[in-house]
Amino acid sequence: MNGASHLVGGMTAAMVLGIHSPAPIVVVAVSALLPDIDRPNSLLGRFIPVLPSILEKVPGKRTITHSFLFGAGIWMLINLVDPAMAFAFLIGYVSHLILDIFTGRIAFLFPLPQKFGIPLFGIPPVFIETAAMAAWGTWVVLGGYNYFYIT
Ligand SMILES: [Zn+2]
Repeated sequence: MNGASHLVGGMTAAMVLGIHSPAPIVVVAVSALLPDIDRPNSLLGRFIPVLPSILEKVPGKRTITHSFLFGAGIWMLINLVDPAMAFAFLIGYVSHLILDIFTGRIAFLFPLPQKFGIPLFGIPPVFIETAAMAAWGTWVVLGGYNYFYIT
C-alpha cells in the first residue's frame, strides 16, 4: 500500500478508537507510516537519509520494521515517556500491519524469515486502496472533518 492509504487507514482506526486531539493524531499518522521506512521512496522514508536504503538491502522490505518485535520495542520506549502516546502509536502501527497483511506479505515474526499475508479473494490491492480513498474523501466532504477537534 502507499503512504496515503496507510494514513487513511491509521486515521480511520483513530476515529473508531476515539482519538480526537491533534498530538495523538500526529503520533497515529507517523506510526502508520513508520514501518515503510524500509523503502527510500516511501512517504516517510524519503525524508530520512541513508537508513531506508540500508533497511531495504540488509533485512529486506517488510521485515524488521513490520514485525511484532519492532513495534513492541518502539511501544515500550514511548510508553516510558507518555502512555497515551504509546496507545496512539499502537493504533497507527497495527493499522499499518493489518493493511499490509491484506495487500501483501510481511515478516511479522522477524527475525523468523516467514512472511504472512491474507489475500482478499484475489482483489488487487490498488482496488482496495482506491475504494478506501474514495470512502475517506466522501466522508470528509460530508462533514466528517468536524469529528476532529482541530480548529
Ligand atoms: Zn508496509
